[in-house]
Amino acid sequence: MKPCRLLGPVVTSLLWLATGLASPASAADEPVPAPKAPKPARDAGAEQAPEAVKIERLVDFVRPFAATFGASNADVPKLVSGPKVVAMPNDKSPGRQWVASLGTVTFKVTIADATKLAPADVFAHVRRLPVPYRRMLEIVSEDGKAGLAVYPELGGAAAHGSQDYLNVIPQANVFVLVHECGHVLEQRTTRGAPKTLEAWGEAVAKDRVSVSEYGDTVVHEDLAEFALVYAICLDAGPARLDDLRQRSPARFAQWEAILEASGAKDPAKPTPKPPNAPKSPPR
Ligand SMILES: [Zn+2]
Repeated sequence: MKPCRLLGPVVTSLLWLATGLASPASAADEPVPAPKAPKPARDAGAEQAPEAVKIERLVDFVRPFAATFGASNADVPKLVSGPKVVAMPNDKSPGRQWVASLGTVTFKVTIADATKLAPADVFAHVRRLPVPYRRMLEIVSEDGKAGLAVYPELGGAAAHGSQDYLNVIPQANVFVLVHECGHVLEQRTTRGAPKTLEAWGEAVAKDRVSVSEYGDTVVHEDLAEFALVYAICLDAGPARLDDLRQRSPARFAQWEAILEASGAKDPAKPTPKPPNAPKSPPR
């Protein structure tokens, strides 16, 4: 399994989105200071009006409505038990572990003492996850795994995600978590369907549209970046989701199949909406 090596300074698309987190989403945070996002490499681009940005990549399509991502989620993360003193899996440094819940999902949070973070700092991001994406938290919290683990640094990466671990640095925001969810759910699906990434590569060729510059680098990062734009459209409502389906139909079908195969989405039900999401318009 290839871990994600999402490099903070390199992933301009994610950092751009991070700068788009305006007051509506911030207001949904826990009343604690959130970790500061790293300074984006392209301040000038961030100032550009959304309508002036030509949509060459799918990330350009979602950027104008990414600022409110997750702001309407009603579920609030809660501590279930802990902390328990642990050694961090990566480097055996001292850490603490809690069990927490978000809606119907129970998961672990493991924080290295050196970060000086509290669970509330992590919850500020976690609470914005769309309902199906919370499955990631369950998978990385299975027996013997550390759940969402926060380290002071990860060798220059913003996060490392696989079905066995989800490691992040303090600056990683919800968009990083959603990107990593792409890796976690893909790897869980690949366990039972080994040609999942191969099929994704075929979908990319069929769709003839780029998701993001980072996604262009390798097929599994294309998938993770698509997981991000899908999440933003899912949160923004059925019309945005339909628009994404039309822009990238092959990836869209593949990603929904991965959501079902990994247990994130019940195949018998339509795509879950976030709590308090606007009702679908009559058709
Ligand atoms: Zn990645």
